[in-house]
Amino acid sequence: MNIIKSLGLKQVINGSGKMTSIGVSTASQKVAEAVKEGTQHFVEIEKMIEAVGQVIAQETGAEDGCPTCSASAGISIAVASTIAGENLTLIEKMPNSEGLKNEIIIQKGQVINFGGSESQMIRLGGGKVIEVGSSNVVEYEHIDEAINERTAALMFVKSHHVQQERGQSLETMLSIAHKHHLPLILDAAAEEDLKKYIALGADIVLYSGAKAIEGPSSGFIAGKAKYMAAAKKQYKGIGRAMKVGKESMAGLVVALREYHNKFHDPEEQIKSMTIVCDLLNEINGLRCTVKKDDAGREIYRAQIKVNAEKTGITARKIYEKLVSSDPAIYLRHHFLEQGIISIDPRTLRSGQEKIIVHSIKSIITGENRDG
Ligand SMILES: *Cc1c(COP(=O)(O)O)cnc(C)c1O
Repeated sequence: MNIIKSLGLKQVINGSGKMTSIGVSTASQKVAEAVKEGTQHFVEIEKMIEAVGQVIAQETGAEDGCPTCSASAGISIAVASTIAGENLTLIEKMPNSEGLKNEIIIQKGQVINFGGSESQMIRLGGGKVIEVGSSNVVEYEHIDEAINERTAALMFVKSHHVQQERGQSLETMLSIAHKHHLPLILDAAAEEDLKKYIALGADIVLYSGAKAIEGPSSGFIAGKAKYMAAAKKQYKGIGRAMKVGKESMAGLVVALREYHNKFHDPEEQIKSMTIVCDLLNEINGLRCTVKKDDAGREIYRAQIKVNAEKTGITARKIYEKLVSSDPAIYLRHHFLEQGIISIDPRTLRSGQEKIIVHSIKSIITGENRDG
């Protein structure tokens, strides 16, 4: 691509998934055209936000929606909407929420870092983060007893970043929230199912527009009409610093409409990752298996376990060499310290699997020669 070259940047092969650090996802031709068209026309923005909200509603089954510039902005705007509502004076005061109902209750193991801090995004929206329970165990009472007259909402994070063995389920959080007539905000940024959580009764659900949906840099919130009206109004407040552009909204609409036709066929993923594993298993010291996503999504990755004694090189070192090669190859690195590297098939173009296998092979055989 000319712009990337002109900036002196390397081409990137992405076998790691939808990662912000390498540009999240690539858009289809139709989405790219919509973005282009979006940049070249004037439009009444408030009405566009309303209309895009209706598309979000259709695609999620929610009463209404609100486009955002990212899922992170979605967290802040959602939180602010539960605290300031549609009151302009309060909206302009955010994130200073002193004296208001501003407590956001969240299970301790869910206060994650997704590359940014969940807790900071809540605070940006004027929320006071109330962490309940312990990082590995949260009981029903921890949540129920934390609710008081200052509680604004309950928050739940559905993500592979959450590694909580004994927390309370989304269903339980919903029932506690509704028992107390409070809204539940769900961070479903990287989730693939756009309808499930709304159908379960979540009041406010936020997604990234560029992860599963493969739209431009964007995000959106879906949920009950009164919270969506408040969310849209935050664009007169903190939302202004997180402005969603007309071109992003244009691309997001097309990506949302395309989404239910787009589907990374599990059979195809398993097939291509099995071929990769068969080739890698020929290398002494590597054990490659096809493994389903930890969060239960329909993603099948090649998981490579590196026995450094046999390969003469650690998983971390292999990972680093792949990143510094040209083109730069990015694989999943969440479990490097356990000697594991994974390949995510969703972001690969055809033929790139072979480049990855070839590169890993030459790194290992090269290292062995060096002793
Ligand atoms: C990626 C992610 C976010 C942030 O999404 P952006 O669109 O990059 O702002 C928030 N929460 C979770 C759980 C995520 O995975």
